Amino acid sequence: MLPIILRPHRNMELCREFGPRFCDDELYTCSCAMTELQGGSDVENIDFMHGKTIKTSARLEGGDWVINGHKIWPSSSNADLFGVACSTNPGSSNEEDFAFIYVPADTPGVIIGAPYQKAGMAADYNGDVWFDDVKVPKKYRTHGPGDDAKYFREILSYGAACGAAFGLGPMKNTYEIVKKWASERFVAGRPLKEHSINAAVLAEIAIDIEASSAMLHMVARQLDCPDIYGIMPWDKAMVARARAVSLFVTDAAVHATGRAMELMGSYGYARQYDLEKHWRDVKMTTLWMGSRQLDLIEVARYWYDIETL
Ligand SMILES: Cc1cc2nc3c(=O)[nH]c(=O)nc-3n(C[C@H](O)[C@H](O)[C@H](O)COP(=O)(O)OP(=O)(O)OC[C@H]3O[C@@H](n4cnc5c(N)ncnc54)[C@H](O)[C@@H]3O)c2cc1C
Repeated sequence: MLPIILRPHRNMELCREFGPRFCDDELYTCSCAMTELQGGSDVENIDFMHGKTIKTSARLEGGDWVINGHKIWPSSSNADLFGVACSTNPGSSNEEDFAFIYVPADTPGVIIGAPYQKAGMAADYNGDVWFDDVKVPKKYRTHGPGDDAKYFREILSYGAACGAAFGLGPMKNTYEIVKKWASERFVAGRPLKEHSINAAVLAEIAIDIEASSAMLHMVARQLDCPDIYGIMPWDKAMVARARAVSLFVTDAAVHATGRAMELMGSYGYARQYDLEKHWRDVKMTTLWMGSRQLDLIEVARYWYDIETL
């Protein structure tokens, strides 16, 4: 919903249309459908691909958009409302042809597939979503030619920062689990943590958490306060910073959960101690949003003015 709710580009007409649905007594959810069969990264790599690979098409017919396409993997694929990355001219790398259009899930022609089986993130329903001659009003396009692509970058910067938060939360709980374990479990006559080799591992986990918290808070503040920092959420500078924090924190989360599991031995691998859930979940945080290579590319591209990647 970011493209329509944030200043200075708030779309009040669509806020009035959709806002009340989220404020009702019934849960109303939304989902951002970008990824397609031919790849997720190429859609998210908008600075290089400019929407060229998006096959989901949107054509104007009278007062309606008619949408056809197949999205895969969107988080909350069973949502009530989709924000759909479309092209008004599939194959075009002109960003004016990129369209971000809202589609209520109960519109005729929207078909939602069964949830995928995954290693982790079980609470997230990910599946196929097909759009078969789906008609929605013309006003459901977030802004219009050029601006849809511009503000789509905001989804990337917020998405990357949120991905980092998805890594940091499990890391903090990992700390709690491993602290208890290392205090209560004895090896060679002493608690685990009282062996210097294990204390060093515990220190690494704490450092991962402290560094990740500091970096994520800084980037979140920059996202929140463009007036102070002079960087708009859709600027390349912000996308690169958010991707940097995403990669840093999610790598740290994979590192911390892995080390904690090694300290806990086979107990860390057992369901009942909760650690293995974090270990499975955090791996995902390094994979979505174009995965770590796209994070690295966007960071290098921005800070080093790379032109061919
Ligand atoms: C739990 C979960 C939740 C998700 N939620 C959503 C969602 O809400 N909405 C949505 O649309 N999608 C969602 N996805 C999909 C996810 O965003 C994509 O899987 C992701 O973008 C990667 O796309 P892909 O899997 O098609 O891999 P590909 O795009 O095929 O990438 C394959 C590999 O190529 C690397 N790569 C990418 N770009 C380049 C490049 N330029 N040069 C070299 N290497 C490159 C990647 O880093 C990766 O290692 C979700 C996926 C999961 C598992």
